[in-house]
Amino acid sequence: DSQKIVTRLNELILANNLEDTVSAKITGCFGFCEKGPIVKVFPDDVFYTQVTPEDADAIVENHIINNRVIQRLLFVHPETNQRIVPEKEIPFYQKQKRVALRNCGLIDPDNIYEYIANDGYMALGKVLNDMQSQDVINEIKAAGLRGRGGGGFPTGLKWEGALKNESDEKFIICNADEGDPGAFMDRSIMEGDPHSVLEAMTIAGYAIQSNKGYIYIRAEYPSCIARLKKAITQGEEIGFLGDNILGSGFDFTIELKYGAGAFICGEETALIHSIEGRRGEPTTKPPFPSDSGLWGKPTCVNNVETYANVCPIINKGADWYAGIGTETSKGTKVFALAGQINNTGLVEVPMGITLQEIVYDIGGGIQDNRRFKAVQTGGPSGGCITRANLETPIDYDSLAAIGSMMGSGGMIVLSEKDCIVNIAKFYLEFTVEESCGKCTPCRVGNKRLLEILEKITQGRGTMEDIETLKTLSEIIKDTSLCGLGQTTPNPVLSTLKYFEDEYITHVRDRK
Ligand code: SF4
Repeated sequence: DSQKIVTRLNELILANNLEDTVSAKITGCFGFCEKGPIVKVFPDDVFYTQVTPEDADAIVENHIINNRVIQRLLFVHPETNQRIVPEKEIPFYQKQKRVALRNCGLIDPDNIYEYIANDGYMALGKVLNDMQSQDVINEIKAAGLRGRGGGGFPTGLKWEGALKNESDEKFIICNADEGDPGAFMDRSIMEGDPHSVLEAMTIAGYAIQSNKGYIYIRAEYPSCIARLKKAITQGEEIGFLGDNILGSGFDFTIELKYGAGAFICGEETALIHSIEGRRGEPTTKPPFPSDSGLWGKPTCVNNVETYANVCPIINKGADWYAGIGTETSKGTKVFALAGQINNTGLVEVPMGITLQEIVYDIGGGIQDNRRFKAVQTGGPSGGCITRANLETPIDYDSLAAIGSMMGSGGMIVLSEKDCIVNIAKFYLEFTVEESCGKCTPCRVGNKRLLEILEKITQGRGTMEDIETLKTLSEIIKDTSLCGLGQTTPNPVLSTLKYFEDEYITHVRDRK
């Protein structure tokens, strides 16, 4: 519908001879999926929600020509019933802070000049003109940026490791193989602001003294691929990519590599093997990619959201960035809100915000006023957060302390009507399907876990089965080769920790 709305708006703009002063453009995601399609009118700062192609006529006639805000298209406050005009006054946006998503919903992602007009490629210019490689790394370290793909490893340290390794060739990789169920953070960044990723990769290349970058992207993201390809071409034409960037003598090119949908290729060693044309299976670490990565050369792998934070750090400074978030988790995090929540969508919040604020203040609470049960964070590798932990600050360490994890940013909200054992089973089905099969604990152990969960949910389980779930989960965690197997029992263990009574009810009541 968004495309139809834009087409119709532009037809009407032409028909009314307004083309010299007004234009309608597609932007990236506003995040407020629940209320889309959205039309925002600049410079009036009017935010229209749930717009249909038929509404385009009213927008041009009433708003553009007669300067009258269309009340029926405004967001209605769920408690006061007041109609809200500007985006920033809508509860969904009030506690958000947009750093990685700064240009999504603001610029036309296909137009490099709109990116440039919003400080685009300014950070690259600053780096090439004023900074040495180590200066860039020091800035990223001082900012406290940690990897947003799930691991939370300090980005500056990773870059420093690769810089210190002498080599004739080094590589930068952007991990865009987003595959967690319900997660679409990276997709929205690439679709809405592709140049932010390219610029940051180029800065990373300068920082570790690499001249070549790869974006490993799942082939199931065709619109991201199209936008990235176009952005690379534009960047090369203007001189932000390629040889002798901005006359600095620094060369950097970026190439896309397509993943075929294997979840395990999001693991960095498997991803590297896949780029090399080998089977996408993980290997043990060390060696880490920053020592020996793509074709045995020092390589930095960071995910899309991590890169999206780099340019604001360079532009605004490490102190600014480190001022957002908590002591050990700086900056913001993007989450995809899904499940039984009123406002599904994409949100970016400062680290340290509580789950209560995300679910109720931003997410608008649980659908149909049901009771909140839990949130599953971190996708199939994560764990659940219960009502008792609603006040837990959302940061790497606090989540780990309660048996969950930040993960890449999927947040699936569960209500009282969801069966927690079925949720654990859903994730196990996913991981059994996606295990690469290289090591026995993950290949066989997870299959056994799934069989037990199937028994329990079919009313055939025993109390002994529940004990086996616990011991087998611990064994799989301890003995699997890669991060996938080491974390796949998490949904089982965390749901058992907080909701063992539901497992027991299945067994006792044979249902
Ligand atoms: Fe493959 Fe699972 Fe072993 Fe990782 S833990 S190497 S995904 S079988």
